[in-house]
Amino acid sequence: MAYSEKVKSFYEDEINSIRQAGLFKEERYIKSRQAAHIKVEYPNGAPTKNVLNFCANNYLGLSSHPEVIEAAHKGLEDRGYGLSSVRFICGTQDIHRELENKLSEFLGMEDTLLFPSCMEANAGLFEVMLDKEDAMIADRLVHASIVDGIRLCKAQLYNFKHSDMSHLEEKLQETQDCRMRLIITDGVFSMDGDIAKLDTICELAEKYDAMVMVDDSHATGFIGKLGRGTHEYCGVIDKVDIITTTLGKALGGAAGGCVSGKKEIVEMCRQRARPYLFSNTVPPVVVAAAIKVIDLISKSTDRRDKLEDNTNYFREKMVQAGLDIKKGDSPIVPVMLYNAKLAQDIARDLYAEGIYVVGFFFPVVPKAQARIRTQISADHEKEHLDKAIEAFTKIGDKYNILGKKKEEIIAMYGM
Ligand SMILES: *Cc1c(COP(=O)(O)O)cnc(C)c1O
Repeated sequence: MAYSEKVKSFYEDEINSIRQAGLFKEERYIKSRQAAHIKVEYPNGAPTKNVLNFCANNYLGLSSHPEVIEAAHKGLEDRGYGLSSVRFICGTQDIHRELENKLSEFLGMEDTLLFPSCMEANAGLFEVMLDKEDAMIADRLVHASIVDGIRLCKAQLYNFKHSDMSHLEEKLQETQDCRMRLIITDGVFSMDGDIAKLDTICELAEKYDAMVMVDDSHATGFIGKLGRGTHEYCGVIDKVDIITTTLGKALGGAAGGCVSGKKEIVEMCRQRARPYLFSNTVPPVVVAAAIKVIDLISKSTDRRDKLEDNTNYFREKMVQAGLDIKKGDSPIVPVMLYNAKLAQDIARDLYAEGIYVVGFFFPVVPKAQARIRTQISADHEKEHLDKAIEAFTKIGDKYNILGKKKEEIIAMYGM
């Protein structure tokens, strides 16, 4: 079929219905490095604006760290720009293996395999591990990339209610006849910033003879006293079998992901994981910079500690100001607004105040759970946090939501 008028209007209608549903995603252009301060341009011709960034995954502030940039330059000089190959043909340099070893050590795992992204690590992992006679038991709120990986795997799928340990136990009982079972969860859930109950999950896994897989993309580098991740935070470093994580968030924020864990499973991925076998190697420049990142965060917890201080300070002051904050320990700090339009209006007004945040609403979060998700960084200084708190207080006052409970906000603005 040619790209006929009929075909063209089919897609136009689809795009229009995305717009009408209020789900159209407009991208803004950052015209500077990723950092606490950024220059942002809206595509609608509004002038470029200097704003404080509260919506990046740059938790440790390493995206534009001078030593990371220097390591990238050196990597570029030493190992070139591209490898023009997948890993198993001629796309593995010694530095790829060096990074894998460093990641294994940092995460406390036996072995690690780099993937082009964590999305692809999740896409490849399950199919390689499990087959028809096995079961996957996943938290209902796992990341979209896990959902896709699960779809590619023939094992039977069971879900448990989000972080509901007795429901997980029920599912473990139901699946006792399966050959192997794998419990699947995010470490830190990206929308609420809540942390998986990995201690209980690992206990249940032992009791029912199941394996545990954690996607720690929103945790690696800063959750836990040494920043090793959710398994460290929950005291179960030696009990988690497989971790997937990304280099695209706290660990420099460029690209790349990995599967880390039991060496047999890592080997199975090297042999059979399709996104590993059939997609290009992680570029040398990224690998060289990521090695520097792991060195920096292994040597010192300064950045991770500063992030924790910043997070505690911000959470405390925002609550004092009367904003409705989801409780938690992670630098993902959701400001609850419940109404989608309210979340967008407040985000827009904050932008005018020089604070860059984004409203999230259905279907990204459940209906009547609209919010602004703020993300704290070690790149933020106290004065940045104060400026954001001040702006939230000013705009919160304008909309009369300070000190208001969920029911009161919904009564004023609807769901
Ligand atoms: C961001 C994220 C990913 C995707 O990571 P990429 O390396 O960007 O593909 C996967 N899982 C979770 C939980 C994430 O938050």
